[in-house]
Amino acid sequence: MLNIVLFGPPGSGKGTQAAKLVEKYSLIHLSTGDIFRANIKGETELGTLAKSYMDKGQLVPDEVTIGMLQSEADKYEAPKGFIFDGFPRTMDQAVALDQYLSGRATSISMMLSLEVDEEELKKRLLLRGKDSGRADDQNPEVIQNRIDVYHRDTAPAKAYYSAQNKYCGINGVGAIEDIFNLLCTEIDRFAAAV
Ligand code: ADP
Repeated sequence: MLNIVLFGPPGSGKGTQAAKLVEKYSLIHLSTGDIFRANIKGETELGTLAKSYMDKGQLVPDEVTIGMLQSEADKYEAPKGFIFDGFPRTMDQAVALDQYLSGRATSISMMLSLEVDEEELKKRLLLRGKDSGRADDQNPEVIQNRIDVYHRDTAPAKAYYSAQNKYCGINGVGAIEDIFNLLCTEIDRFAAAV
């Protein structure tokens, strides 16, 4: 299986690139943010809980997020692979993901990390807030909080994958197509080596 962690701060383009990658490589796209938003829309209990954190720019607690991700992944019996988008976002999530995949006799192939500077992120998120109506993209304080949480809780996961020789940083500023090509080059290099 080809299992990719698509990583990067809020607004780095994970969702945009994931959509293109799943199409090219026939992978299953698991976006924790999308799953939470679908639950909010469906007015489920999980949605109500997630919303209370998302509105403040905080992470949904690990035990909730990890359980949800696993039951979502369990729906696919024999996929070519997964793209994890927005997960893992903490060290504990990274460890849980490894354990889960090892239970399925597979593992993470690589972490592709989109690197984008903070000014550019804020610009993109505010613009997305106008177009998409996402509440967490419309409030500068919530945006700042998400970026701070990323630096504090999420970015350390890079070291976790780096220690396994699976970390790959990608310049996430530029044309969507150019960034996509950079990602594909790394994936193809990996696929050629196994
Ligand atoms: P972005 O990357 O732009 O912040 P996402 O759609 O990935 O957007 O996430 C939106 C929100 O959903 C996050 O701010 C967080 O509250 C929640 N969330 C998403 N993924 C996770 C996760 N893996 N762990 C905890 N909370 C998460």
